[in-house]
Amino acid sequence: MTPLSVFLPFNRDCVGDAFVPAKQGGKSPGTSGHWLIVQNQGLVVVPDGEGFILPRGERPPALDGQLGEPLWLGTFKDTPCWVAALPREAALPAGLHRETLVPMQNTRLPDDLLSLGGMAMQALWWESTSSHCPRCGERTERITGEWGKRCPTCRYEHYPHLHPAVIVLVRDGDRCLLARKAEWAPGRYALVAGFVDNGESLEGAVRREVKEEVGVDVDDIQYVGSQNWPFPSQLMVGFVARYAGGEVTVDRDELEDARWFAVGQLPMRPSRHSIAGFILQNYAQ
Ligand SMILES: [Zn+2]
Repeated sequence: MTPLSVFLPFNRDCVGDAFVPAKQGGKSPGTSGHWLIVQNQGLVVVPDGEGFILPRGERPPALDGQLGEPLWLGTFKDTPCWVAALPREAALPAGLHRETLVPMQNTRLPDDLLSLGGMAMQALWWESTSSHCPRCGERTERITGEWGKRCPTCRYEHYPHLHPAVIVLVRDGDRCLLARKAEWAPGRYALVAGFVDNGESLEGAVRREVKEEVGVDVDDIQYVGSQNWPFPSQLMVGFVARYAGGEVTVDRDELEDARWFAVGQLPMRPSRHSIAGFILQNYAQ
């Protein structure tokens, strides 16, 4: 059975077969298409009734001279998709609107545009961090038909970096252990999460993060789904684990608070767009 989490926004599954990634398609087809223009974690869209659509056609003339070099992302609904960055300070002409891609800022974009916009952000992030060889500093070249880059001097090749992180709901019968960071909105609690270290399994990362951040032991670690998270480039791997002992002790360097909540009396939830919201919705009711 397909886990329902694959339909979370930012997972490419949201656009399904309607999207064909560029690297399978060879050369870019012309210069016209859908435009995924990213400005400061927002997507430039055209208001359309209650919703939004992507600018379409040739490169928007009103933004000419301000857009970065377009990248061909792939084909969406049989039309090429172009990605371009717009500088933070550039003003938008009438008819275009910037809508945030950030779920916690109450984005109004539908899931398909969030997923396309997320891929656009990741493509731009990769371009901005891969222009020079990390080994010898030479300017890199794009590998034909790939997102990868090659160094013409030392031949080092590298490909877009996704950083795996675990996110876990700790359960003990009918209570759940939730945590909050000081910078979050008041009353908002979420799950323990952290990056996977060198040499670690996902389960090992779950055990370590829970122990480090909230001081308890867990067992019966079950995978429940995943989400690609383009802020800037994480793969969030979701788990539910069973409390196996220990006192809750908060790591004050990471967290402001962590505590048990009775199922059914949970505090303010994370956005429905995030895997944290998905796990709480499905495994903490
Ligand atoms: Zn090199």
